[in-house]
Amino acid sequence: MALPTDQRTGETDQRTGDTDQRTGDALDVLRRVFGYDSFRGEQREIIDQLVGGGDALVLMPTGGGKSLCYQIPALVRDGVAVVVSPLIALMQDQVDALTTLGVRAGFLNSTQDFEARRLVETAFLAGDLDLLYLAPEALRSESVLRLLDRGSIALFAIDEAHCVAQWGHDFRPDYLALSMLHERWPSVPRIALTATATPDTHTEIAARLNLKDARHFVASFDRPNIQYRIVPKREPKKQLLDLLRTEHPGDAGIVYCLSRASVEKTAEFLVQNGVPALPYHAGLDASTRAANQQRFLREDGLVMVATIAFGMGIDKPDVRFVAHLDLPKSIEGYYQETGRAGRDGLPSTAWLAYGLSDVVQQRKLIEGSDGDLARRRVLGAHLDAMLALCETVRCRRVQLLAYFGQQAEPCGNCDTCLTPPESWDGTVAAQKLLSTVLRLHRERDQRFGAGQSIDILLGRQTDKVSQHRHDQLSVFGIGTELTESEWRGVVRQLLAQGLLAVEGDYGTLVLTDASGDVLGKRREVMMRREAPRAASTGRTAKPRAAGAAAALSPAAEPVFERLRAWRAATAKEQGVPAYVIFHDATLRQIAAEPPATMADLARVNGVGENKLAKYGQQILDTLAE
Ligand code: ADP
Ligand code: ZN
Repeated sequence: MALPTDQRTGETDQRTGDTDQRTGDALDVLRRVFGYDSFRGEQREIIDQLVGGGDALVLMPTGGGKSLCYQIPALVRDGVAVVVSPLIALMQDQVDALTTLGVRAGFLNSTQDFEARRLVETAFLAGDLDLLYLAPEALRSESVLRLLDRGSIALFAIDEAHCVAQWGHDFRPDYLALSMLHERWPSVPRIALTATATPDTHTEIAARLNLKDARHFVASFDRPNIQYRIVPKREPKKQLLDLLRTEHPGDAGIVYCLSRASVEKTAEFLVQNGVPALPYHAGLDASTRAANQQRFLREDGLVMVATIAFGMGIDKPDVRFVAHLDLPKSIEGYYQETGRAGRDGLPSTAWLAYGLSDVVQQRKLIEGSDGDLARRRVLGAHLDAMLALCETVRCRRVQLLAYFGQQAEPCGNCDTCLTPPESWDGTVAAQKLLSTVLRLHRERDQRFGAGQSIDILLGRQTDKVSQHRHDQLSVFGIGTELTESEWRGVVRQLLAQGLLAVEGDYGTLVLTDASGDVLGKRREVMMRREAPRAASTGRTAKPRAAGAAAALSPAAEPVFERLRAWRAATAKEQGVPAYVIFHDATLRQIAAEPPATMADLARVNGVGENKLAKYGQQILDTLAE
């Protein structure tokens, strides 16, 4: 690293000693290199565990500060820290970010030419690197393993460790091979990190990576600055536009869609309506994808419309909203995706529009998926938990955290806390709907989708009703006390509660084992009534002052904008993302209390030695303008 050599040797010599000394080193590195005052949460304990040669399994939400947990031991321990990460496209940015801090980092992956690889390999063998990033498949190459044998390894960090879990939502076969790290290098400490771990996935990671003696660090998964909102889907694109215009004008954000086609259409729609947006999905060629990702990371205020192919490892700190236009497949996925909002700790929105068609579509996808029955059951269980979250009348955060095995109090910053939905006794409505399905099946041996049952209950003489003579059924017209959209809500909630199921390509409704309890009046069904104003965006409070300059004093605002302009120009010149230079939070602090001297500037959070030397004078000049 860029510490003077004598200091580094000094550190090394003292390191044989006790934990306090090591912690001292770690704290020193945190302050000088990263420019932060103090450790967050359990960072210090995790770092001590590794520096002392032990293994660690770290579960921490996105934005929790996982990187420092291995980056600091990488600097404190002798040798090179080998970081295994599936995120090839981001390795360059990660290395750039470390280089700006004065840390020596490199990567080996399939995107490099021979010469670039050779340079990194030479640096590795010469001990001129602090961190080496590798894709998991690289560790299946005998030549890479031999290279590692010839160097000195400080530790192994396994990032995105949930990829090893088959129970989870993001399994990658290449990760299974990582259990050999322990056999091949038994004395090198390992740290596995993930932001998505239910108790099941947690257990599976520990078993598959052979982390028998590891200390487990489970942070709170709460992300208090993110406001969670789930609204009924009506006209999703318009609802989205409304959200962006009223609450997030000029902000950077991510919009997730299920299909490539809807990604394209949504991006186009936003652009037509004056919102700068880019598409991202696996159907675009690699260079377009890379270019769009680069722009999203580098420019301010872009909206990325994407399938879930986008986002893992994106550490852009100022993503102000994550919107889902389709139902995510699991809570793990949803939490990981929404977690990309607000890493800088500033207020952010996680917004999901969800409707009956989502349920039908997802069930269909599961039925049609390859994989055995057990796999389909796992997928079904994931979906059920997601539906339960959508339909809950409890605090969303309480329900989310419970899924990760953590307890919480109602948060006051989610839609159900801010505008508590009324719950109503939907038992009679449920009986009417279920008996319609039952009659169609039993009396006519017919199966239909939700639309037909609702038409029957509402007594509508549609062509399809006449054609099948459904107006002759005893249930015809017995449900006029509810509107069509309320009936759709009933169907949705019955599906979510497992009291009804959908089947086949046309999403036909069928009864479940539990339906009988409702029909037989042995079970009550409570339902969620949507607040009328939740109709569009579910806005719950008055809109926050929008944009990145929110909550700065009128005097500080132009200063902040000047600093941002300086940062944008500098980032462009160096070909790195703006946040690699300084985070918004750092610039805000500078704008709010402009430092007069380099010494003042050094005290600002996020200004380490290297950045101070590199940019300090430019900042002071910009302030003086
Ligand atoms: P994760 O990998 O867990 O998603 P990161 O490692 O990217 O999170 O950290 C999230 C943000 O928090 C980063 O901007 C990082 O610089 C910052 N951060 C991490 N640890 C600290 C700390 N101790 N003090 C201040 N900021 C920190
Ligand atoms: Zn809440």
